[in-house]
Amino acid sequence: MLRLPQFGVALPANVDAVVALLRDNPGARIVAGGTDILPNLKHRLDEPGMLISLAQVAELRSIAKVEHDGQAWVEIGAGNTLTQVSEDPQVRALFPSLATAAGLVASPLIRNMGTLGGNVNLDTRCRYVNQTKFWRQALGGGCLKSEGKVCWVVPTGRNCVAAMSSDCVPVLISLDAQIVLAGPQGQRVVPAASYFKADGLRHTVREDAELTTSLRVPVPTTPTRSAYAKWTVRKSIDFPLVSVALRFDLEADSVDAPVTKLVVVAGVLGAKPRIVSKLDDAIGKPLSDPALSRIVCAAVAKQCKPLENVPYEAPYRRRMFEVFTRRAIAELVAAG
Ligand SMILES: Cc1cc2nc3c(=O)[nH]c(=O)nc-3n(C[C@H](O)[C@H](O)[C@H](O)COP(=O)(O)OP(=O)(O)OC[C@H]3O[C@@H](n4cnc5c(N)ncnc54)[C@H](O)[C@@H]3O)c2cc1C
Ligand code: SF4
Repeated sequence: MLRLPQFGVALPANVDAVVALLRDNPGARIVAGGTDILPNLKHRLDEPGMLISLAQVAELRSIAKVEHDGQAWVEIGAGNTLTQVSEDPQVRALFPSLATAAGLVASPLIRNMGTLGGNVNLDTRCRYVNQTKFWRQALGGGCLKSEGKVCWVVPTGRNCVAAMSSDCVPVLISLDAQIVLAGPQGQRVVPAASYFKADGLRHTVREDAELTTSLRVPVPTTPTRSAYAKWTVRKSIDFPLVSVALRFDLEADSVDAPVTKLVVVAGVLGAKPRIVSKLDDAIGKPLSDPALSRIVCAAVAKQCKPLENVPYEAPYRRRMFEVFTRRAIAELVAAG
């Protein structure tokens, strides 16, 4: 049996109290649903003196339409569980890919505990570090992200390339979402596309004394189609091994209408999600045009280069990125 290390637990009642606790207790960690951080503590990937629980912070749990900068957004509190996000009528109607991604995380029990804020701030994962300390010691004493000095995935590299494995993050980036943070200096808003860094040891721009309070997703102003494709070995309780979010803005509400904007974001590569570029040739083509699918799939195949940081061979996963992208587009077209 794996045991937790010893730590104190604080139960603040509001966001200001969370920020004060984070500021006054360097090294303290936030716990929301605990479905990621507690297994990591059992694996001794961290030994914080204090966990600051968000369990009693009710203000993190609303989902509401708001106006900001002359634009309509849906503001989703970071404390909503993944079940709540995936079942929310507004989220399902306006952002079906987000509802899909949240509904594909792990298992029903974990989605009932795990929050959207925890999913966005999920620690990076790697086959060489998400193991017991005993296992890591057997492998030459750990790696850059644990107790060691070498990266087993890229032994010549100086950076940790553990994988950003959240299901919701690629989707939130594809939808141009913003991440709202509260900290000692007040509130700041960071585009989801700028929140992540290519450093598996510290892969977000969140400061130690900040917490994510909500995710703001802009209400689409044109007809759109969006999808999230995930491949895992088992159908349940598995992190993604392939993860692609797609979003197409259309000139009219039909898959035969020309695409005016498209965003494709891949996860589970390195610590930072990849926003696929060079898709301009697909603009102006109908979503139902097979040429559009060929352009998008070719860009995904070229730019998404998995590493041996999570299970399954990287070349196979690279091929599957393309396959799952093609199937996702075909499903959108078939749905009309
Ligand atoms: C068996 C298993 C399978 C899983 N499968 C998947 C999967 O398929 N897809 C997937 O995406 N995830 C998966 N997970 C990971 C996890 O369950 C989810 O990502 C979940 O959303 C994490 O949310 P949480 O509230 O439990 O986070 P916690 O464990 O409470 O926290 C996770 C991290 O986020 C930080 N954090 C939490 N809330 C905030 C906040 N508001 N502001 C700033 N930092 C915060 C914590 O300090 C911690 O570092 C799985 C976990 C397990 C145990
Ligand atoms: S990518 Fe390298 S340094 Fe990072 S967790 Fe994996 S083996 Fe360790």
